[in-house]
Amino acid sequence: MTRKTIGSGDVLDAYIEETTLRETPVLRRLREETERHPRSRMLLNPVQGQFMALLVKAIGAKRALEVGTFTGYSALCVAAALPSDGKLVCCDIDAGLTAIARRYWAEAGLAGKIDLHIGPATETLAALLVSAGPASFDFAFIDADKANYDTYFELSLELVRPGGLVLCDNVLRNGWVATDPEVDRETGILRALNEKLGRDERIDVSLLPIADGVTICRKR
Ligand code: CA
Repeated sequence: MTRKTIGSGDVLDAYIEETTLRETPVLRRLREETERHPRSRMLLNPVQGQFMALLVKAIGAKRALEVGTFTGYSALCVAAALPSDGKLVCCDIDAGLTAIARRYWAEAGLAGKIDLHIGPATETLAALLVSAGPASFDFAFIDADKANYDTYFELSLELVRPGGLVLCDNVLRNGWVATDPEVDRETGILRALNEKLGRDERIDVSLLPIADGVTICRKR
């Protein structure tokens, strides 16, 4: 019998953060400001942010994409991991929340690496396919409205080069994909996406139970 995945729980979460989390002072301040926001549950898990930064460095990514920026925590993790001539393109519809993001990106000295596009991400990604072209990115992180996840995934997969990564966040949806798939429409959409990615021959795939679940797809 193989060992089951550890459900982290508060004690292990605290242990992981105490031992290996390397959150910069700017990231910590951004997290603390976001934790006071009514929608703070959308904040990226800091251990996940550090893991994503490691992936960005591991594949030598120079050009990255983010769908769903919120207050900019994940973007700050990714942009800091890119080389000095790297670029992160962010998509979000909320100019108010991303104003918080811009403030911290500037404070971290990373604003020059990040292009934020306010508007529907499907339009931004489709425009990038024309302007930058297919296979013009190394890394993509999808963390936006679940209803459009499949569309975001398809566009991102086109935009990423072979060997590049597309990450999808919140794929376990609080566990409901397995325990209560009918609970709402979004859970059904993610459940269908998980099943699709499991069979998708265009990618190598790994669904990790970090935070709310993140699927890592490597384009073949
Ligand atoms: Ca998320």
